[in-house]
Amino acid sequence: MTVHLLGAAEIRALAAELDVTPTKKLGQNFVVDANTVRKIVQVGAVGPTDRVVEIGPGLGSLTLAVLETGARVVAVEIDHRLAARLAQTAAAHGVPEGALTVIDADALQVTELPGEPSVLIANLPYNVSVPVLLHFMETFPHLQRGVVMVQAEVGERLAAPPGSKVYGAPSVKAAWYGTWRLAGTVSRQVFWPVPGVDSVLVGFHRDAVARGTEEERRRTFRLVDAAFGQRRKMLRQSLSAELGGTSAAASVVLEAAGVAPTERGEQLTVDDFLRIARA
Ligand code: SAM
Repeated sequence: MTVHLLGAAEIRALAAELDVTPTKKLGQNFVVDANTVRKIVQVGAVGPTDRVVEIGPGLGSLTLAVLETGARVVAVEIDHRLAARLAQTAAAHGVPEGALTVIDADALQVTELPGEPSVLIANLPYNVSVPVLLHFMETFPHLQRGVVMVQAEVGERLAAPPGSKVYGAPSVKAAWYGTWRLAGTVSRQVFWPVPGVDSVLVGFHRDAVARGTEEERRRTFRLVDAAFGQRRKMLRQSLSAELGGTSAAASVVLEAAGVAPTERGEQLTVDDFLRIARA
């Protein structure tokens, strides 16, 4: 089987034929460079036995690069015109029948994926990249690893360690599920239209054992939101509403969890937050 990737001219022609003008609202910046999509697939170590889910396949540039490896792909696309056309594009580019399943839906609303894919590969729509990622990590425990392209600022946050300037709620929430690493930068010139921000690749691996129960996760995430909602305040203040209503009550819980009440959220690991939730 030989799959042919989309070229830049073909992508624009396809968009014109579908009457698609890329919109900011849907984060539509299409990759028009074959080397970039191949690089994403390579960083993701995608092989012929993999089952992959792609969020936002668009006109199919990255989809075809994943299918080129022989992997099977489930692709979730919100834009009906793009979703409706993808199977035809795949067939015309040498993709065998059955290798691609397209779901015409909002990725934030999807609760089932056929074939339980274990790999996520995506050039994420930038406006919803973090919520979509967290929704997928939460809803699909079969997702074991992946590589996503996001705007540089978001990628740095996702992979940030405690104590760093950009460490925030997305860093802690992502760390609930596993480890995240920056895996390369991407020039803005490979997109059409060219976005106003730089992009990075972020790789992740889910931890072998779940960190806690669903109830513990909810409680932990509430604490994380409260702590970073008032980032400059000490935890005994920022978490007082969550932990007993006063800073004195909050201090008791924090000390029981082995966390100094005078610390700030930006110094805590996800396991520290979990210990507070358990306390
Ligand atoms: N994968 C393609 C590429 O690399 O050229 C397109 C990537 S583009 C950055 C993001 C894609 O996500 C667009 O096709 C857009 O229509 C789609 N999208 C936006 N919001 C979405 C959502 N909530 N659920 C599913 N797809 C979405």
